[in-house]
Order: sequence, then C-alpha cells, then structure tokens
Amino acid sequence: RPVILWFRQDLRLADNPAVVHAVETGRPILPLYILDQGPATLQTGAASLWWLDKSLRALDASLRARSSLLILRRGDSEAELRRLIDETGADAVFLNRRFEPDAFARDADIAHGLQADGVACKGWNGTLLARPGSVLNGSGQPYKVFTPFHRALLAATVAPPPAPAPADIRTLPEPASDDIDAWGLHPTRPDWSHGFNWTPGEAGAEVALATFLSRGLKSYGKGRDIPAEPATSRLSPHLHFGEISPWRAVEAARSAAADGRAPAAEADKFVAEIGWREFSAHLLHAFPQMTDKAFRPEYDAMPWRDDPAALEAWKRGQTGYPVVDAGMRELWATGVMHNRVRMIVASFLIKHLLIDWREGERWFRDTLVDADLASNVQNWQWVAGSGADASPYFRIFNPVTQGQKFDADGRYVRRWVPELRGVPDRWLHAPWTAPPEVLRDARVRLGGDYPRPIVDHDAARKRALAALGTIVAAR
Ligand code: FAD
Repeated sequence: RPVILWFRQDLRLADNPAVVHAVETGRPILPLYILDQGPATLQTGAASLWWLDKSLRALDASLRARSSLLILRRGDSEAELRRLIDETGADAVFLNRRFEPDAFARDADIAHGLQADGVACKGWNGTLLARPGSVLNGSGQPYKVFTPFHRALLAATVAPPPAPAPADIRTLPEPASDDIDAWGLHPTRPDWSHGFNWTPGEAGAEVALATFLSRGLKSYGKGRDIPAEPATSRLSPHLHFGEISPWRAVEAARSAAADGRAPAAEADKFVAEIGWREFSAHLLHAFPQMTDKAFRPEYDAMPWRDDPAALEAWKRGQTGYPVVDAGMRELWATGVMHNRVRMIVASFLIKHLLIDWREGERWFRDTLVDADLASNVQNWQWVAGSGADASPYFRIFNPVTQGQKFDADGRYVRRWVPELRGVPDRWLHAPWTAPPEVLRDARVRLGGDYPRPIVDHDAARKRALAALGTIVAAR
C-alpha cells in the first residue's frame, strides 16, 4: 500500500527526513501538496503565494525527473488527505512537522483522526536545527533570552548526516491532481521578481547559498547593516518554504570558514542569525499567545492610534522620511526588505505613528515573500518592546540619523525613491531641511513630487514616550 508524502514547508528532496523515510519503506510514494488557507494565522499571503506557485512547479519538475510527480489539492487538509487515502488505499502519511501553534494543533488533530481509522501519521523535524521544546534551560523552561538560548542550541544539537535527493521515487499510476495554472496563484501585478533575481525552488536556494558564500559571507558582520549592499544571503524565502535546510546553510558557512574562504567570526555571525530564526520558532511554540498578543501583557494597554491615512502613507512609502519610504517601496517591488530597514520602518509605524504593531505585522505577512509567522511576530514584538528579548520601547530610532548612518552615500534611498535622486547626500535623508535653491536644482517640490514628513520627529518621540508612560504608570 502506498505512503503519502505530505509536503508543506519542506519543498525540497535533499536533506528531507520525511523523504528519506518514505523512500526507505520501499513502498510506492504519493507526493502531495495541499493548499489549505485554513486558520487565519496559517494563510499564505499574496507575495508568498507568488513564491509558492514557482516553488511547487520546481518541486514537481524535480519529482518528474525521478519518475514521480507532485499531486496538488486545494481545501481542508484533513478532507483532502482522506480523499487521497480513499482513492489510493494509502495507509500512512509521512511529513515534516510544522511548529506554529495552529499548524501544530491541526496536525495533532489530523494524526489522531487518521490513526483511529488505521492510517499511521509519522512526523519529523525537517525545518529547524532543533525541535521546539527540546532546548530548555536548567529548570526545564524555555529560554526567553536569545544569547543563552543560542549557546544551548548549538551545544545541544548535532548536524544530521547530509541526505542527497533520492535518485528515483517510485509512485503509483498518476492519481488526480489539480492543475496549478487553474489555481491562479500567479498575479502579474506587482511582479515580485522585480529588483531581485529570485529563483524559487531547491536549485535556486543552492545558487543563493553559493553566491552568498563567495561574496557576502567574508564581510557579513559589517555588510549586513548596509541596505544598499548585497551582503546578506537572501535565503529567507528559501528557508521559509523549506527549499533548503537550515543545517545545510549552517554547515556550508562553517566549512567556508574552515577552509579559509571567510573568517570564522563572520560565519558565526551568520549562524547567529539562523539562531534568531530558531529562537523565534521556539518562542512562538512555547508561548502561542504571542501570535497576536504582547509577550509582555502590559503592552497590550498601549493607547494605539487609529489613523488610516497615516497607515496608508506608511504602506505606500509616502511618509516623507526617505529611508522609511525606500524600505516600504523595496518591499512592494521585491517582496523583501533589508533587515536594518525592517527595523526602521517597524519602529516608525509603532512609535512615530503610534499604530498597533499588529497592523504592520499583517501588512508584512501579505507582502513579504519570506513571511514567516514566528519570525515576523517575534521581530515586530522585538521592535515594539513587548517581546521576550526585546529592544526597550524607549529606544526610538531616528529615521534621519539611521538613514545617514547606514545609507551614508544615499544609494539605497536613490534606488527606491527616485524622485529624490538629485538631492545632495547632505540633505537626502531630511529633504525638508534643504535650502529652497537646493531642492529647485534637484527638481523636487516638497508636498508635490515628494511628501513633507507626515509627523515631526521630536513631537512624535514625545508622544510615543508619553504613551509608554501610561502603561508604566498603570502597572
Ligand atoms: P541573512 O542576514 O542572510 O540571515 C540568514 C537567515 O537568518 C535569514 O534568511 C533568516 O532565515 C534568518 N534571520 C536573519 N535575521 C533574522 C531575524 N532578525 N529574525 C529571524 N530570523 C532571522 N524574517 C523572515 O524570515 N520572515 C519574516 O516574516 C520576517 N519578518 C520581520 C519583521 C521585522 C519587523 C523585522 C525587523 C525582521 C523580520 N525578519 C523576518 C527577519 C529578517 O529581516 C530577515 O530574515 C532577513 O532580512 C532576511 O534576509 P537574508 O535572508 O538576506 O538574511
């Protein structure tokens, strides 16, 4: 009887424990993907659907090269699994676990229900360095601070041996599959491939990794803070969709350091960032309420403002602060935003505009190709000051000085906010301070070609600190 190999966020054939175990059974395999837009927290956003479309096509092509294919179904996961079981007589489902609270609970329900009907459900960890719940402190509790977590993570886990993609995957005569073209996941506007040469899929992930090892890794520590530099790995969507395992990325960086292609400190820094991905996943698993509630509950009493016009200006990159606008436009055009700028725009929304971080988290979820519930929620709460190991709320980024420091030559702002191209570096990050003749020469009319700041930095800062005061006083 066949085994269902249920792909979810592990869209690869190499280093995939569920694939290895399915092949080991020697039984026919039914590779399956179900597009289930079930609970809101698990819905795939628009930009991610664009990525998913291409990634599924890539996985299907790899399977076809191994005499198999990807069966596509759309709808409720359990109902679709049962339909395939009825059609094929499969009596086992192999999968790599998902650890987001709603996905974890749904998987447990499905496994329970199928097992009661004689169908075994077997799960492995194919997406994280360590299974959430397995890295605990001396008192058996989850870590709430990154540094000791990361130390314990590295000490507690050993790399699994690499498992190359199987040469052949025996399948059944083709069961019915949806036609991916009919799913219509492929919007043409915006086309998120603009700006970056994205290649979703396992092969694209390997290319991104190889490019990073030969270019960015050498000076990753410094380069990763400069948004105009292509110094980071751009692996985040590949990691989110499981087109590459985190172990593969960690081991590749470490071996580049071991054979002198990059300093060990740079590889360690990169591994620490993978560690933040891990920390986010472990935290959300241990504290599921973080999905939509402040980890520090007092922050849910923050007097957030309801300001649809300001929220819209932020989403569209029309705040009048060039580095904020550059980031929001990069996001819309490419489906990603540089990490430094993510911190700046998030801080701007939460503190300058005093708009609830959940609004920003939701927008990111819909527009990022790397949208990942755990990383997104953890990072938004980090900026909001409400997270576990968060930046203190009173640390308010000044978008002008952040721009001047990390985009000193203005390359990033000029790329994404072309109307400011002609403004000299000295005024680029605060064009409203430029003398009128400078703006005239640069052909910029503030309030026309480019907006004036929608809030004044000093006034916004005072308002944000006063808001913090209200929750501190209430404590
Ligand atoms: P690199 O610098 O090459 O890092 C390597 C990998 O480490 C990344 O691919 C990613 O998987 C992981 N990583 C790096 N930084 C972080 C971090 N701060 N937190 C968690 N993992 C990290 N990342 C997501 O993958 N999905 C999200 O939805 C997401 N939302 C974010 C929201 C905000 C407000 C902020 C400030 C950050 C968010 N990040 C998110 C983290 C980070 O910005 C991206 O992972 C990073 O920019 C991806 O680029 P890269 O692959 O070139 O990273």
